[in-house]
Amino acid sequence: RAKREHRGGSYLFDLQLTQMAQKRLDLEGDLRRGLQQHQFQVYYQPIVDIRTGQIVGVEALTYWHHPQRGLVGPGEFIACAEDTGVIIPLGLQTLECACLQMQEWPSDWWLSVNLSPRQFAYPFLGRDIDLILQRTGFPAQRLHLELTEGALGENVPVVADTLRQLRGRQICLCVDDFGTGYSCLRYLQEFPIHNIKIDRSFVASIAEAGSGGEIAKIIAHLGYSLNLTVTAEGIETAYQQEFLRQLGCPYGQGFYFARPQPPSGIDRLVHAGGCLPTKPGHSAATWP
Ligand code: C2E
Ligand code: MG
Ligand code: MG
Ligand code: MG
Repeated sequence: RAKREHRGGSYLFDLQLTQMAQKRLDLEGDLRRGLQQHQFQVYYQPIVDIRTGQIVGVEALTYWHHPQRGLVGPGEFIACAEDTGVIIPLGLQTLECACLQMQEWPSDWWLSVNLSPRQFAYPFLGRDIDLILQRTGFPAQRLHLELTEGALGENVPVVADTLRQLRGRQICLCVDDFGTGYSCLRYLQEFPIHNIKIDRSFVASIAEAGSGGEIAKIIAHLGYSLNLTVTAEGIETAYQQEFLRQLGCPYGQGFYFARPQPPSGIDRLVHAGGCLPTKPGHSAATWP
């Protein structure tokens, strides 16, 4: 009897697995079709000088206009695109599109583009980036590539070599979601990293009541000591902005300043002077 129950359980389990696998296959097919049919659009989120709200750059984020599901954010498909390898052509398309788009915006802005571990391990990455920079005329010095700790952890000599190649092109290298992965301290010393982005979970813990923000504080100081530029992600309140500004964190990004948006939204910000509303004068007297 026990055996039969076990069989029943494993049958249900198999069924669930089959359904999950089917969903995955459907998503993969949709992704490939979406790529052919140009259903992806690059959105841009401003990155600002945290003291003034002046835009200094934008981060490119890939969104999907799915024919049935409507607008789908990257959180719902990037993982599948990575697993299936679709991220290679998709990521190149995003990079090229964003480099072209930057021609429309101030020439002192930088462009941040996310690079998945899969793209990072792709042997023709350097060649493909060169081609895109050539075709679009976008200067490598204004390109920032955001890597997660997942891409940096694995094979140190190979990673170091790839990073040196990118650095050799004058590209700026950033660690995204800093503090959420492993081995984050050693590679800051060994690899040519320029910028760390404080993960938004650490910014979210900066709340008006009570403490919080301890890890953000440590990361900001670490960046300062190691001569790395620091960008805080996920700033949603004036209090968080002011807290981070007082820590000396130079750059910020978050819904408080602006959401990710299609190019037309960024055009409007450019016409309005490229400065996002901040609320100066927020009381600093109560800081811990
Ligand atoms: P990320 O690179 O860490 O991007 C920041 C994420 O935080 C974005 O989520 C952005 O919308 C969100 N965000 C920004 N400010 C705030 C805020 O104030 N509050 C909150 N709650 N969230 C905020 P999104 O657009 O859903 O993208 C998720 C992730 O997908 C990105 O995280 C990035 O890792 C990945 N991704 C997006 N586009 C691409 C791409 O073209 N290539 C690759 N490889 N990955 C991408
Ligand atoms: Mg990013
Ligand atoms: Mg991030
Ligand atoms: Mg993230």
